[in-house]
Amino acid sequence: MSYTGPEFEPPQPRRPRRGPLTVALAALVPGALLGWVVYEAVGGGGGADRAASAAPASRTSAAPFGASGSSASPTGSSAASSSAQDAKGDGAPGSLAGKVVVIDPGHNQGNFQHTAEINRQVDIGTNKKECDTTGTSTNDGYTEARFTLDVAHRLRTLLEKQGATVKLTRDGNTPAWGPCVDERARFGNNARADAAISIHADGSAEGDRGFHVILPGSVHAGAADTRKIVGPSTDLGKRIAGNFLRDTGEPPSNYVGKGTGLVTRTDLGGLNLSTVPKVFIECGNMRDSKDAALLTSGAWRQKAAQGMSDGIVSFLRES
Ligand code: ZN
Repeated sequence: MSYTGPEFEPPQPRRPRRGPLTVALAALVPGALLGWVVYEAVGGGGGADRAASAAPASRTSAAPFGASGSSASPTGSSAASSSAQDAKGDGAPGSLAGKVVVIDPGHNQGNFQHTAEINRQVDIGTNKKECDTTGTSTNDGYTEARFTLDVAHRLRTLLEKQGATVKLTRDGNTPAWGPCVDERARFGNNARADAAISIHADGSAEGDRGFHVILPGSVHAGAADTRKIVGPSTDLGKRIAGNFLRDTGEPPSNYVGKGTGLVTRTDLGGLNLSTVPKVFIECGNMRDSKDAALLTSGAWRQKAAQGMSDGIVSFLRES
Protein backbone atom coordinates (compact mmCIF):
# COMPACT_ATOMS: atom_id res chain seq x y z
CA MET A 1 0.00 0.00 0.00
CA SER A 2 1.27 3.38 -0.82
CA TYR A 3 1.11 6.34 1.47
CA THR A 4 -1.88 6.61 3.72
CA GLY A 5 -2.34 9.52 6.01
CA PRO A 6 -3.70 9.68 9.52
CA GLU A 7 -7.19 9.09 8.29
CA PHE A 8 -6.16 6.56 5.66
CA GLU A 9 -6.65 8.98 2.85
CA PRO A 10 -4.46 8.89 -0.21
CA PRO A 11 -2.83 12.21 -1.03
CA GLN A 12 -5.22 14.56 -2.70
CA PRO A 13 -4.86 14.85 -6.45
CA ARG A 14 -2.82 17.84 -7.34
CA ARG A 15 -5.07 20.77 -7.98
CA PRO A 16 -3.75 23.18 -10.57
CA ARG A 17 -5.32 26.06 -8.67
CA ARG A 18 -3.04 25.33 -5.72
CA GLY A 19 0.04 24.87 -7.79
CA PRO A 20 1.83 28.12 -6.99
CA LEU A 21 1.33 27.70 -3.26
CA THR A 22 2.58 24.15 -3.36
CA VAL A 23 5.64 25.22 -5.28
CA ALA A 24 6.28 28.10 -2.92
CA LEU A 25 6.10 25.84 0.12
CA ALA A 26 8.33 23.27 -1.48
CA ALA A 27 10.86 25.97 -2.18
CA LEU A 28 10.78 27.44 1.29
CA VAL A 29 10.62 24.40 3.45
CA PRO A 30 13.89 22.65 2.67
CA GLY A 31 15.74 25.81 3.59
CA ALA A 32 13.94 26.02 6.89
CA LEU A 33 14.71 22.47 7.85
CA LEU A 34 18.25 22.74 6.57
CA GLY A 35 18.59 25.81 8.72
CA TRP A 36 17.71 23.74 11.72
CA VAL A 37 20.23 21.08 10.90
CA VAL A 38 23.01 23.59 10.39
CA TYR A 39 22.06 25.51 13.49
CA GLU A 40 22.02 22.42 15.64
CA ALA A 41 25.26 21.19 14.12
CA VAL A 42 27.08 24.28 15.28
CA GLY A 43 25.87 23.72 18.80
CA GLY A 44 22.89 26.01 18.94
CA GLY A 45 20.69 23.50 20.66
CA GLY A 46 23.07 22.06 23.17
CA GLY A 47 24.54 24.89 25.17
CA ALA A 48 22.91 25.64 28.47
CA ASP A 49 23.65 29.34 28.33
CA ARG A 50 23.24 30.16 24.72
CA ALA A 51 21.52 33.44 24.13
CA ALA A 52 18.38 33.44 22.07
CA SER A 53 19.89 36.16 19.94
CA ALA A 54 22.26 33.59 18.51
CA ALA A 55 19.34 32.18 16.61
CA PRO A 56 18.88 32.67 12.91
CA ALA A 57 16.82 35.73 12.17
CA SER A 58 14.02 33.84 10.47
CA ARG A 59 11.22 33.18 12.86
CA THR A 60 10.53 29.82 11.34
CA SER A 61 14.00 28.64 12.16
CA ALA A 62 14.48 30.62 15.34
CA ALA A 63 16.20 28.84 18.15
CA PRO A 64 13.82 27.42 20.69
CA PHE A 65 16.41 27.55 23.37
CA GLY A 66 16.82 30.50 25.62
CA ALA A 67 19.36 31.54 28.13
CA SER A 68 19.55 29.15 31.00
CA GLY A 69 18.40 25.81 32.21
CA SER A 70 15.14 24.83 33.72
CA SER A 71 14.71 21.58 35.50
CA ALA A 72 15.88 18.56 33.58
CA SER A 73 13.56 15.70 32.97
CA PRO A 74 14.12 12.91 35.49
CA THR A 75 12.15 10.49 33.40
CA GLY A 76 15.02 8.97 31.53
CA SER A 77 15.21 10.83 28.27
CA SER A 78 18.42 10.58 26.32
CA ALA A 79 21.47 12.67 27.01
CA ALA A 80 20.69 14.81 24.02
CA SER A 81 17.13 15.27 25.12
CA SER A 82 18.12 16.09 28.67
CA SER A 83 20.58 18.59 27.34
CA ALA A 84 17.87 20.18 25.29
CA GLN A 85 15.62 20.26 28.31
CA ASP A 86 18.33 21.93 30.34
CA ALA A 87 18.88 24.48 27.67
CA LYS A 88 15.37 25.72 27.30
CA GLY A 89 13.71 28.86 28.33
CA ASP A 90 14.30 31.59 30.80
CA GLY A 91 14.99 29.29 33.70
CA ALA A 92 11.60 29.64 35.35
CA PRO A 93 9.98 26.23 35.62
CA GLY A 94 6.54 27.77 35.52
CA SER A 95 7.17 30.00 32.57
CA LEU A 96 4.44 28.39 30.48
CA ALA A 97 1.85 29.03 33.15
CA GLY A 98 -1.38 30.10 31.54
CA LYS A 99 -0.58 28.38 28.25
CA VAL A 100 -2.90 25.58 27.17
CA VAL A 101 -1.76 22.69 25.01
CA VAL A 102 -4.17 20.12 23.61
CA ILE A 103 -2.75 16.73 22.73
CA ASP A 104 -4.80 14.52 20.46
CA PRO A 105 -3.70 10.88 20.57
CA GLY A 106 -4.79 9.64 17.16
CA HIS A 107 -7.44 6.90 16.84
CA ASN A 108 -8.63 4.74 19.75
CA GLN A 109 -8.06 1.10 20.63
CA GLY A 110 -11.83 0.78 21.00
CA ASN A 111 -12.39 1.77 17.38
CA PHE A 112 -11.68 -1.81 16.34
CA GLN A 113 -14.85 -2.90 18.17
CA HIS A 114 -16.97 0.06 17.06
CA THR A 115 -16.72 0.04 13.30
CA ALA A 116 -20.30 1.18 12.71
CA GLU A 117 -19.86 4.16 14.98
CA ILE A 118 -16.54 5.28 13.55
CA ASN A 119 -17.73 4.83 9.97
CA ARG A 120 -20.48 7.38 10.53
CA GLN A 121 -19.96 10.41 8.33
CA VAL A 122 -19.20 13.74 9.95
CA ASP A 123 -19.00 17.19 8.40
CA ILE A 124 -15.44 18.53 8.17
CA GLY A 125 -16.43 21.72 6.38
CA THR A 126 -14.94 20.91 3.01
CA ASN A 127 -16.76 17.58 2.77
CA LYS A 128 -17.98 14.66 4.82
CA LYS A 129 -15.73 11.99 6.16
CA GLU A 130 -15.67 9.03 8.53
CA CYS A 131 -15.92 9.91 12.21
CA ASP A 132 -12.60 8.19 12.85
CA THR A 133 -10.53 5.22 11.67
CA THR A 134 -8.90 2.32 13.45
CA GLY A 135 -5.42 3.49 12.64
CA THR A 136 -2.60 1.18 11.64
CA SER A 137 -0.29 -1.15 13.57
CA THR A 138 3.11 -2.77 13.31
CA ASN A 139 3.27 -6.17 11.66
CA ASP A 140 3.52 -7.61 15.18
CA GLY A 141 0.25 -5.97 16.22
CA TYR A 142 1.40 -2.95 18.23
CA THR A 143 -1.40 -0.55 17.39
CA GLU A 144 -1.12 3.06 16.42
CA ALA A 145 -3.81 3.84 19.02
CA ARG A 146 -1.61 2.47 21.82
CA PHE A 147 1.44 4.23 20.45
CA THR A 148 -0.24 7.61 20.24
CA LEU A 149 -1.63 7.44 23.77
CA ASP A 150 1.73 6.43 25.22
CA VAL A 151 3.52 9.31 23.47
CA ALA A 152 0.74 11.67 24.55
CA HIS A 153 1.28 10.74 28.19
CA ARG A 154 5.01 11.31 27.90
CA LEU A 155 4.45 14.63 26.16
CA ARG A 156 1.92 15.72 28.77
CA THR A 157 4.45 15.07 31.55
CA LEU A 158 7.13 17.11 29.78
CA LEU A 159 4.84 20.06 29.07
CA GLU A 160 3.39 20.12 32.56
CA LYS A 161 6.93 20.36 33.93
CA GLN A 162 7.20 23.57 31.91
CA GLY A 163 4.07 24.86 33.59
CA ALA A 164 1.64 24.40 30.72
CA THR A 165 -1.93 23.25 31.16
CA VAL A 166 -2.32 20.10 29.09
CA LYS A 167 -5.56 18.47 27.96
CA LEU A 168 -5.96 15.20 26.06
CA THR A 169 -8.81 14.56 23.64
CA ARG A 170 -8.93 10.98 24.90
CA ASP A 171 -7.29 9.16 27.78
CA GLY A 172 -7.35 5.69 29.28
CA ASN A 173 -10.49 3.97 28.05
CA THR A 174 -12.47 7.17 27.70
CA PRO A 175 -14.25 7.54 25.43
CA ALA A 176 -14.81 3.91 24.40
CA TRP A 177 -14.26 4.86 20.74
CA GLY A 178 -13.36 8.00 18.84
CA PRO A 179 -13.77 10.89 19.47
CA CYS A 180 -14.77 11.75 15.92
CA VAL A 181 -12.33 13.95 14.04
CA ASP A 182 -14.64 16.96 14.20
CA GLU A 183 -14.89 16.56 17.97
CA ARG A 184 -11.13 16.28 18.25
CA ALA A 185 -10.80 19.62 16.49
CA ARG A 186 -13.50 21.30 18.54
CA PHE A 187 -11.89 20.03 21.73
CA GLY A 188 -8.87 22.20 21.00
CA ASN A 189 -11.05 25.12 19.99
CA ASN A 190 -13.17 24.94 23.14
CA ALA A 191 -10.06 24.67 25.30
CA ARG A 192 -8.78 27.82 23.57
CA ALA A 193 -5.53 25.97 23.09
CA ASP A 194 -2.42 28.00 22.40
CA ALA A 195 -1.11 24.97 20.51
CA ALA A 196 -2.55 21.62 19.56
CA ILE A 197 -0.92 18.49 18.20
CA SER A 198 -2.44 15.30 16.87
CA ILE A 199 -0.09 12.34 17.25
CA HIS A 200 0.01 9.53 14.69
CA ALA A 201 2.22 6.90 13.12
CA ASP A 202 1.81 5.96 9.50
CA GLY A 203 0.91 2.74 7.71
CA SER A 204 2.89 2.82 4.49
CA ALA A 205 5.02 0.25 2.64
CA GLU A 206 8.20 -1.43 3.91
CA GLY A 207 11.09 0.79 2.97
CA ASP A 208 9.05 3.95 3.45
CA ARG A 209 10.67 5.55 6.46
CA GLY A 210 10.84 8.71 8.47
CA PHE A 211 8.61 11.26 10.14
CA HIS A 212 6.56 14.09 8.75
CA VAL A 213 4.59 16.92 10.26
CA ILE A 214 1.28 17.75 8.59
CA LEU A 215 0.38 21.43 8.34
CA PRO A 216 -3.11 22.76 7.65
CA GLY A 217 -3.63 24.14 4.18
CA SER A 218 -5.84 27.15 3.69
CA VAL A 219 -9.49 26.13 3.46
CA HIS A 220 -12.66 28.18 3.78
CA ALA A 221 -15.77 26.09 3.31
CA GLY A 222 -18.69 25.37 5.59
CA ALA A 223 -17.49 25.18 9.18
CA ALA A 224 -13.88 25.02 8.04
CA ASP A 225 -11.85 28.21 8.00
CA THR A 226 -8.14 27.75 8.52
CA ARG A 227 -7.03 31.05 7.05
CA LYS A 228 -6.04 32.48 10.42
CA ILE A 229 -4.23 29.41 11.66
CA VAL A 230 -2.16 28.49 8.60
CA GLY A 231 0.63 30.91 9.54
CA PRO A 232 1.01 30.06 13.22
CA SER A 233 0.45 26.36 12.56
CA THR A 234 3.24 26.39 10.00
CA ASP A 235 5.52 28.03 12.52
CA LEU A 236 4.53 25.46 15.14
CA GLY A 237 5.04 22.59 12.72
CA LYS A 238 8.47 23.69 11.58
CA ARG A 239 9.62 24.01 15.17
CA ILE A 240 8.31 20.55 16.00
CA ALA A 241 9.91 19.05 12.88
CA GLY A 242 13.30 20.57 13.64
CA ASN A 243 13.29 19.48 17.26
CA PHE A 244 11.89 16.05 16.48
CA LEU A 245 14.68 15.51 13.96
CA ARG A 246 17.32 16.48 16.48
CA ASP A 247 15.91 14.67 19.52
CA THR A 248 15.06 11.38 17.81
CA GLY A 249 17.52 11.19 14.92
CA GLU A 250 14.61 9.92 12.86
CA PRO A 251 15.02 11.20 9.29
CA PRO A 252 12.34 13.18 7.49
CA SER A 253 10.02 11.00 5.44
CA ASN A 254 11.52 9.50 2.31
CA TYR A 255 8.09 8.99 0.70
CA VAL A 256 6.21 12.28 1.21
CA GLY A 257 7.32 15.86 1.71
CA LYS A 258 10.34 15.79 -0.59
CA GLY A 259 12.72 15.33 2.30
CA THR A 260 11.46 18.32 4.25
CA GLY A 261 9.53 16.43 6.92
CA LEU A 262 6.61 18.75 6.20
CA VAL A 263 3.42 18.09 4.28
CA THR A 264 0.45 20.43 3.81
CA ARG A 265 -3.00 18.85 3.63
CA THR A 266 -6.53 20.12 3.27
CA ASP A 267 -8.39 16.83 3.70
CA LEU A 268 -8.11 16.29 7.44
CA GLY A 269 -11.07 17.21 9.63
CA GLY A 270 -8.83 17.57 12.66
CA LEU A 271 -7.02 20.43 10.91
CA ASN A 272 -9.79 21.89 8.75
CA LEU A 273 -12.05 22.53 11.72
CA SER A 274 -9.36 23.85 14.02
CA THR A 275 -9.41 27.50 15.00
CA VAL A 276 -6.24 27.22 17.06
CA PRO A 277 -2.67 26.55 15.85
CA LYS A 278 -2.52 22.84 15.19
CA VAL A 279 -0.45 20.23 13.39
CA PHE A 280 -0.38 16.47 13.01
CA ILE A 281 2.79 14.45 13.32
CA GLU A 282 3.38 11.06 11.72
CA CYS A 283 6.23 9.84 13.88
CA GLY A 284 7.31 7.02 11.58
CA ASN A 285 5.98 4.18 9.47
CA MET A 286 4.67 1.29 11.57
CA ARG A 287 4.82 -1.04 8.55
CA ASP A 288 8.53 -0.53 8.02
CA SER A 289 10.69 -2.89 10.07
CA LYS A 290 13.32 -0.30 10.95
CA ASP A 291 10.80 2.33 11.95
CA ALA A 292 8.73 -0.27 13.81
CA ALA A 293 11.75 -1.14 15.95
CA LEU A 294 11.89 2.51 17.02
CA LEU A 295 8.18 3.04 17.49
CA THR A 296 7.92 0.00 19.78
CA SER A 297 10.76 1.24 21.99
CA GLY A 298 9.78 3.15 25.12
CA ALA A 299 13.14 4.93 25.13
CA TRP A 300 12.57 6.11 21.58
CA ARG A 301 9.01 7.22 22.35
CA GLN A 302 10.46 9.35 25.14
CA LYS A 303 12.75 11.01 22.62
CA ALA A 304 9.79 11.52 20.31
CA ALA A 305 7.83 13.21 23.09
CA GLN A 306 10.86 15.33 23.92
CA GLY A 307 11.14 16.50 20.33
CA MET A 308 7.47 17.48 20.26
CA SER A 309 7.75 19.18 23.63
CA ASP A 310 10.81 21.18 22.59
CA GLY A 311 9.05 22.36 19.46
CA ILE A 312 5.85 23.31 21.28
CA VAL A 313 7.70 25.06 24.10
CA SER A 314 9.71 27.03 21.55
CA PHE A 315 6.52 28.09 19.79
CA LEU A 316 4.75 29.08 23.02
CA ARG A 317 7.67 31.08 24.33
CA GLU A 318 8.03 33.12 21.18
CA SER A 319 4.45 33.50 20.05
ZN1 ZN B 1 -3.20 7.85 12.36
